[in-house]
Amino acid sequence: MTSSPKSSFSRRPKRFLDVSESDWNNWIWQHQNRLKKESDFDWLKLSPQEKAGFETIEDFRVAITPHYAALFSDDDPNCPIRQQGLPNVLESNVEDYELEDPLAEESHMPVPGITHRYPDRVLFYVSHHCPVYCRHCTRKRKVSDPNSAASVNQIQTSLDYIRNNKNVRDVLLSGGDPLTLSDDKLAVIFKALREMDHVEVVRLGTRNPVTLPQRITENLCDILRENGPIYTHVHFNHVSEISEESILALSRLRNAGCVLGNQMVLLKGVNDDPETVMQLNRKLLKHGCRPYYMLQCDYAQGISHFRTPLKTGLDIVESLRGRIGGMGIPDYVVDLPGGGGKIELVPNYIESQDGNQITFRNFNGDRFPYVDVE
Ligand SMILES: *Cc1c(COP(=O)(O)O)cnc(C)c1O
Ligand code: SF4
Repeated sequence: MTSSPKSSFSRRPKRFLDVSESDWNNWIWQHQNRLKKESDFDWLKLSPQEKAGFETIEDFRVAITPHYAALFSDDDPNCPIRQQGLPNVLESNVEDYELEDPLAEESHMPVPGITHRYPDRVLFYVSHHCPVYCRHCTRKRKVSDPNSAASVNQIQTSLDYIRNNKNVRDVLLSGGDPLTLSDDKLAVIFKALREMDHVEVVRLGTRNPVTLPQRITENLCDILRENGPIYTHVHFNHVSEISEESILALSRLRNAGCVLGNQMVLLKGVNDDPETVMQLNRKLLKHGCRPYYMLQCDYAQGISHFRTPLKTGLDIVESLRGRIGGMGIPDYVVDLPGGGGKIELVPNYIESQDGNQITFRNFNGDRFPYVDVE
């Protein structure tokens, strides 16, 4: 299925035909020229559901970089990239079980900007903005809201909290997308964290390699390298998102000493079948990025059209086993509603059990006896 990826520049929408390649590859130009309203998509044949989406969305804005829009299929509204970027009228459908803050992140905040759920690690929100607002976002309650951005003060308060909590050894920068901040601000944050002896692991959660790969500049990479190793969690959901520009971004990050992992979100109609996940994971491994998590779509409001049954995820994991090396198989994780944290679901390979006599089923469906020890 996958031919070699083309550059987004070579696929740019008609609207951007006059743009120079150097502007296109400048992340500030990309940021400034994001597509935000229905009329910005006049080069695309919007479906009735997408059109109605623009009319019904309320607080969760639309923003799409020209780069990401270039990956859209012009004539297929079921295109996996379009579904993640363009609004859909189904977003106004909120199920009873859905929650504004599905992971109870706000109630686990010791100070604004930090979620401290597990003893040894914290989520540190440094920005509430992103190049593209993914329609399935779990933090849609606050992401994109111009009034909720972390202030300089808030960042200092969060850093003080981490400095004073010696049991925090792992800090995950998140948001929004941390790479929305300037290089200078990021450098200050990384440096402050590195000065804390008890902070052993620093992670960066970012979707920029997908939505704005031009952001991964040499200057940014210098900062990452100086403060490395930075464990970098990216968020590719479909192989078509791995553009030529993304491949360059991943290789720059690797050369800057970043350890790359992918956090995919399982989304109905986008990537909810074994073949699609396999294509994605093969391509990620090829470019030095290990699939880390496959996340069950959580209980954020208005995303039920993306949600799959647990069985779908389990079937995907089971079908990957044996067909791709273990490095290509992510943990399938449910982040429990209400703030219970993440749990991992694994297929059941025990076919039957009688005392210590177990029959296992392998990846091929063959059965193997096993005697368990006392
Ligand atoms: C996901 C998450 C983390 C990081 O979890 P890992 O499983 O270590 O990747 C940390 N804190 C919170 C609140 C989280 O939701
Ligand atoms: S990049 Fe992440 S935080 Fe931003 S909209 Fe997408 S899923 Fe949400």
